[in-house]
Amino acid sequence: MHRLTLGDFELTILSDGNYFLDGGAFFGVIPKVMWSKRMQPDELNRLSCGLNSVLVRGATKTVLIETGIGNKLGERMKKIYAPEEKLLNSLHAVGVAPEEIDVVINTHLHFDHCGWNTVYRDGRAVPTFPNAKYYVQRGEWEYAQRASERDRISYISDNYDPLIRSGQMTLLSGNQEQEIVPGISVEVWPGHTRNMWAVFVRSAGKTACYISDLIPTTWHLEPTWAMAYDLFPMEVLDNRKRYYARAIPEKWLTIFTHDPHVPWAYLDKVEGKMTFKVA
Ligand SMILES: [Zn+2]
Repeated sequence: MHRLTLGDFELTILSDGNYFLDGGAFFGVIPKVMWSKRMQPDELNRLSCGLNSVLVRGATKTVLIETGIGNKLGERMKKIYAPEEKLLNSLHAVGVAPEEIDVVINTHLHFDHCGWNTVYRDGRAVPTFPNAKYYVQRGEWEYAQRASERDRISYISDNYDPLIRSGQMTLLSGNQEQEIVPGISVEVWPGHTRNMWAVFVRSAGKTACYISDLIPTTWHLEPTWAMAYDLFPMEVLDNRKRYYARAIPEKWLTIFTHDPHVPWAYLDKVEGKMTFKVA
């Protein structure tokens, strides 16, 4: 199990299992001869990727960052992504019931980040975490309402619209960093989508950052290794550099949403190349 203490917080990686992504889509303009040296795809050119959520336990609140891919995909999508639907088992394994989650934070609303927000009961999507307050950036939700033909498939409204209708999900506005509970805050870091959040956990002078799809795995550390899914690749480039300019000297623990092997690490740049040290 991946667990560590950060000041007053205990952080535990909760996996929703692995899922498949197309190697070409995962590495965008990077030629296969280059990325396949790091990662061998299967015969269908697929890479087995992780779905890492983080349970943050503090003195008062129990917070869940991201809710994985969930169990609501249709048959065709299930065939493509092969979700393992493990998040609730991972939560159970650390002795936490869904009712004990106080806060759920979604960095953005792509279906592989908010899938367990809800489950179907009698054909209706109901909250998986009945006592939680859910949070997402307002602009992300607004975009999801009118997503383009290119990325409409990335949004499943049953993951969030029922929560918004019932008032259980709060939409935050503005690009400044905002604290959700003491020590845990969110800030818009554009590139993957216009309104995606990074989530910061700070205590006792230490910082952990769930940078989400801006840097999805340790294979994506080089600023130019962007995903084909990224809507604003030039901003991915700039914002990764901006991130490293603080994360390296300030020794932030970086949490990787889709890395199947390294859920978190400390970053460095050695002789012009990005490197990492497993936490
Ligand atoms: Zn995404």
